[in-house]
Amino acid sequence: MKLQNINQISDQVISIVWDDGTEQIFFADKMRGKCPCASCKEKKEDKPAGLFKVLKANPNNVIFSGWEMIGRYAVRFMFSDNHNTGIYTYEYLREIGEN
Ligand SMILES: [Zn+2]
Repeated sequence: MKLQNINQISDQVISIVWDDGTEQIFFADKMRGKCPCASCKEKKEDKPAGLFKVLKANPNNVIFSGWEMIGRYAVRFMFSDNHNTGIYTYEYLREIGEN
């Protein structure tokens, strides 16, 4: 599976077209919540979270501030809360994207 085209539609929406013609839509706040980096994963595996923690781990109104292709297998997304360590592999993107 290869990424054919990536497009920022708005502050909060990015679309990706795959080489099989499938198009998927990605929302910034959901993507931020699903960040696969080590520190985000750790937070998710934390003890039962209080409301404050949940809010902190899933910031609302986050927007995309950019992205960067990583080789031919992944995309790094940068968010408006200055978080930019999440490397989203194509496989993972296929899994979490919305059609
Ligand atoms: Zn992260």
